[in-house]
Amino acid sequence: MSQHFVRVRFAPSPTGPLHLGGIRTALYNYLFAKRHGGTFILRIEDTDRKRFVSNSESYILETLKWCHIEPDEGVGYGGPYFPYYQSKRWNIYRFYINQLLEKGYAYYAFDTDLDLDKKRKEYNDRGLIFSYNYKIRMDMNNSLTMTKEQLDAKLQSCYSYVIRFKIQPGEKLNMYDLIRGNIIVDTDYLDDKILLKSDGVATYHLANTIDDHLMKITHVLRGEEWLPSMSLHILLYRAFGWIPPHFAHLPLILRKDGKGKISKRNADSLDFPIYPIQWKVPDTQIIIPGYRELGYFPEAFVNMLALLGWNPGIKREIFSLQELINFFSLEKINKSGVYFDLKKANWFNKKYLNKKKEEIFSFLCEELKKRSIFYKKDFLCKIIHLTIDRIHFIHEIWEHSFYFFISPSSYESNFFNKICHQKSIFQLENVKILLSHTSQFTSVNLKPLFQEDQKNRHQIMQLFRLALVGVLKGIDIFMILEMLGKEESIQRVEKLINRIKEKI
Ligand code: GLU
Repeated sequence: MSQHFVRVRFAPSPTGPLHLGGIRTALYNYLFAKRHGGTFILRIEDTDRKRFVSNSESYILETLKWCHIEPDEGVGYGGPYFPYYQSKRWNIYRFYINQLLEKGYAYYAFDTDLDLDKKRKEYNDRGLIFSYNYKIRMDMNNSLTMTKEQLDAKLQSCYSYVIRFKIQPGEKLNMYDLIRGNIIVDTDYLDDKILLKSDGVATYHLANTIDDHLMKITHVLRGEEWLPSMSLHILLYRAFGWIPPHFAHLPLILRKDGKGKISKRNADSLDFPIYPIQWKVPDTQIIIPGYRELGYFPEAFVNMLALLGWNPGIKREIFSLQELINFFSLEKINKSGVYFDLKKANWFNKKYLNKKKEEIFSFLCEELKKRSIFYKKDFLCKIIHLTIDRIHFIHEIWEHSFYFFISPSSYESNFFNKICHQKSIFQLENVKILLSHTSQFTSVNLKPLFQEDQKNRHQIMQLFRLALVGVLKGIDIFMILEMLGKEESIQRVEKLINRIKEKI
């Protein structure tokens, strides 16, 4: 295989937003294409008009853009094999289905829904499962069981029909999946799948096979849910006389609670987001935030996603997109399902935060501007430096740094109620004295002053923190003091003393 001819496609159906599994399929296709200097194509598989959701396409395009994995060819990008929408390729499918009919690989089936239900029931009553296959097709109402004249008459009198693929039984079909290795399927167990529906629309199987061939796709990388269709697709390629592409079926992304795979259908019941970017539900207009809106960086999201089912073979987890391309190989994709872990996703985001100091700075400036608070750049940079370890997302900077800029106006009520007594006032007065006698107001100098009263130290420190922050959170208290300065620190202690006095 010449590496320069790798052509892969991401072929989503526009039935709603992409979920983690979908965008990971796109990513692996992209990485594989780029790794081999190939072409990454976007094809929209919109054969199923009943499930069509209008804003899915723009969603898909925007998501790929956000992840920086844009196609080289396809919907929104053009290319030599257009149209890249299956709904615009009906005449192509018609042409090829006729070939299958002529060669005897496909046949017309006129069975009505009622006929099929009756048969299904008959089989059911005998404890059997009905499957439209080689065993029963000769008992059904199709072109295999009628003369040419009868068939022509039926076709001319506008009987509704479907076209089915005629599976040849008695073969152990040997297939190869680049991730799972050899797979053998007994064709006796395959049914005669519909290729063309009664409304004249090609089914996924037919359209997908024809398009992959005509678009010169060399590798099909898609979700494991399509593995059961592989045998049909291989047989279709054979029937057309075409060489099939290589197949690689990607492992499912599973829920950590053991309740199966993640999907659009169970999105609501999951305790983690499954959409890359926000999705506006067409019926209700409800907006479901995605990773982008929740503050994940695209680089972190992509890095996390790449390692969800693939390992680079080295002990390292942080990879730029270019590095992912350099390391990517299908051999290192997991065979079994992978569990999604939100904590790990957050960890990835955190890893990228250190490179985002400018953005954190701008965010903090905006927060301050909203409140008409102004500080020097050096001071803000120091605050960022002191608090960055505590955050995973840019927007978290404010809740971890507000107390450097705003004196508490209220206090954590649970704790405040507990400390409302004379002893606290006494302890805080002592703190105040210690502070006012310190000339070098640095954390290094202040720390030793509070070591002495070991017995009550913990309680005093909590009181002290409450005075400075308003809640029992925040960075090292002596560092807070240094940043606030002597005057402000003392004022905050006094403020809490007064509040306690008012209360008791
Ligand atoms: N249209 C299919 C989907 O949305 C694509 C399957 C394939 O890649 O062959 O999952």
